[in-house]
Amino acid sequence: MTAPFEPGLPLATDYEAVIGLECHVQLLTLSKAFTGASAAFGGAPNSHVDPYTLGLPGSLPVLNRRAVEFALRMGLATGCTLRKKSRFARKHYFYPDLPKGYQISQYDEPLCEGGHIEFLRHGEPHRVRLTRIHMEEDAGKNLHVSGAGTSLLDYNRAGVPLIEIVSEPDLRSAEEAAEYLRAVRQLVRYLGISDGNMEEGSLRCDANVSVRPRGQREYGTRTELKNINSFKYVQKAIEHEIRRQIELLRSGGTVVLETRGWDAERGTSRSQRKKEQAHDYRYFPDPDLPPLVIDDAWLAEVRQTLPETPMRRYERYLGQGLSPYDAVLLTSERELSDYFDEVFRSGGDAKLAANWIGSELLGALYKDGKGIAASPVSAPRLAELLGLIEKGAISGKIGKEVFGKMYATFASAPEIVQAEGLTQVTDAGAIEAVCQRIVEGHPRQGDLYRAGNQKIIGFFIGQVMKETGGRAKPELVNQVLRRLLGGTS
Ligand code: ADP
Ligand code: MG
Repeated sequence: MTAPFEPGLPLATDYEAVIGLECHVQLLTLSKAFTGASAAFGGAPNSHVDPYTLGLPGSLPVLNRRAVEFALRMGLATGCTLRKKSRFARKHYFYPDLPKGYQISQYDEPLCEGGHIEFLRHGEPHRVRLTRIHMEEDAGKNLHVSGAGTSLLDYNRAGVPLIEIVSEPDLRSAEEAAEYLRAVRQLVRYLGISDGNMEEGSLRCDANVSVRPRGQREYGTRTELKNINSFKYVQKAIEHEIRRQIELLRSGGTVVLETRGWDAERGTSRSQRKKEQAHDYRYFPDPDLPPLVIDDAWLAEVRQTLPETPMRRYERYLGQGLSPYDAVLLTSERELSDYFDEVFRSGGDAKLAANWIGSELLGALYKDGKGIAASPVSAPRLAELLGLIEKGAISGKIGKEVFGKMYATFASAPEIVQAEGLTQVTDAGAIEAVCQRIVEGHPRQGDLYRAGNQKIIGFFIGQVMKETGGRAKPELVNQVLRRLLGGTS
């Protein structure tokens, strides 16, 4: 006997979810996959079109070399087996967003097979296997005008290059699926092949979801969830589908193989088409395109453009003495990670650099709604500031003040320290003179100190700091004050 399903309860433990994702990633090329029209996002409707985009008779495809290189970058970064000779196929279906009547895709000879996406799960490196990555072209956009009885068509997106990344059914929870998707986005952004923007549609994902009784080896029947077009909803949409299937099975029903559309507004999904009605795409090799051949020289050239992956960076940062927290933060975006590397290369202490970037710099940028690329303090300049702190020329506290001024005025740390006379006073004689004056000026507090009130030392330090504009070296002040206070009894 199983308990009746109640929405809101933790997901049942007698069933296990099995999830595989198909991600479409729009490549950041200037022109389209098989023609010279602009591949830029947006633009006035139907302004990025040409005879080939519109499927006019007599127009022929020419493969975009850059699109292939971007696909190869992804294949190399995920450890795929790359096919030296792959082929493009026509996938036929009839819909107004597809002017040619077929989409060019890859079918039985994809460019990449195998490999994996790697990410941190509960703080540990974790791998999800990929089935394949293939190249294809995007379709146009339909705009259904509600109430008007018409649909508008914009072919700007038609023919924009995509890669489709298909995972094995390795994911076991909605949370894990969301983490996987984040890792895909992070990686394509690191590789510079896509902006991975789900809201603008440059990263789209379909989730294949099934459930099975825990302990069962065979997979259950899956549904394919489409239209998850925001990062915010990935986890929610998949969780909802897992619950729906468990509830169905518990009440004696069966899951049917179907495509379901996620409705973010209602927080629910509905059936779009059953797989029995699945299209026959009549795939066949595109006769207008020769096989795509990747020779070793080309592959070596592409390999040269590969950056270190986020996971390798994460591991390197741990090796440089950073905490897992700092390493995750700094590797979240490639620009941020590059910034840190540049500060570190200028000879700074890794931990100090991470702290300053994580608190002062990101704090200031966040307040301004700016990204790291727009930072008014460049990496070499931050390194220069940290250098002054490390060699004791200024204290950490003054450093923060200097940083604030660097951020606001674009001036360098030495310039500010010089102009404002902020150099730390380390001259024992000068500090002694100030301490002497302060001790003599406050005999009553001195008595309290000698009577055993150790805490009152803070008062004296505060006075000395006030007098020196915060520039006196605190350790030295403390030492001198204790000697003077103790010695006058
Ligand atoms: P299709 O071509 O119909 O989309 P595929 O066999 O290519 O079907 O599988 C697509 C995706 O579905 C892959 O990501 C795969 O991991 C996933 N998948 C396959 N079977 C299941 C299952 N039983 N439960 C969940 N996901 C599955
Ligand atoms: Mg599919």
